[in-house]
Amino acid sequence: MNITVPQLLEQVRRYDRLFLLLDYDGTLVPIAPTPERARLSPDMIDTLGALAATESVQLAVISGRSLADLRQRVPVEGLFLVGEHGAEICTPAGQRHWLVDPVAIRPVIDRLATQAEAALAGLTGCLVENKTLSLALHYRLAAPAVAREAVTRFVRLGEAHVRGGRFQWLRGKQVIELRPAGIHKGRAVAFLLEQYSRPGEHPIYLGDDRTDEDAFRVLSDAGITIRVSAEEKSSRAQYRLGSPTEVHQFLDGLRRQYG
Ligand SMILES: [Mg+2]
Repeated sequence: MNITVPQLLEQVRRYDRLFLLLDYDGTLVPIAPTPERARLSPDMIDTLGALAATESVQLAVISGRSLADLRQRVPVEGLFLVGEHGAEICTPAGQRHWLVDPVAIRPVIDRLATQAEAALAGLTGCLVENKTLSLALHYRLAAPAVAREAVTRFVRLGEAHVRGGRFQWLRGKQVIELRPAGIHKGRAVAFLLEQYSRPGEHPIYLGDDRTDEDAFRVLSDAGITIRVSAEEKSSRAQYRLGSPTEVHQFLDGLRRQYG
């Protein structure tokens, strides 16, 4: 359901405490031509910092990006960072959790990354990203036929691992990823709430992509879920906001309401 920022703030007002769970790309920043270019605005950093410092609000940024990448992109203290769709978690106090065994996963991903670089050499506009616990192929800048060929080769490389049951495919916006089986943002959200939610705290999740649907499902009757999208899309989320700009307005509203 479409909702305005003031209506959403009104919905939230009844809760004393919030656990805010925010996707990064397409939610806090507009989708960029390459993952490298998606940077938070200084205003957004300021807003996130203020919310993270608010006693009645806990904040988590949950992304498919690696934890190291996310940490460098979100220069804010006092929040949870969740990388690789939940495979790696870092708490505000700096405690680390892994929802997979990194020692078993990393060598497999490293080997596949080398193979993928070789298999995709010469396919313009395609980018293989080794996130240490998962491997992504980005093809936003490739011509459609090149992108199809790249995806075919990439899938051929990873398919045996998927059939073996340890990994699975994940498709997002102009990206296909091989990631450890059973890891998704829904599981990350369930983990955070189980381990760290405080009494009287209400979860709110904002995300823009297919990978966020797992989180919407986990929160379906336990929180407020918002899909960020310019168009109406079939989604498990209760509400829709139109853009990262509206997300920023909403977060600024929360800052005033809870700060
Ligand atoms: Mg996203």
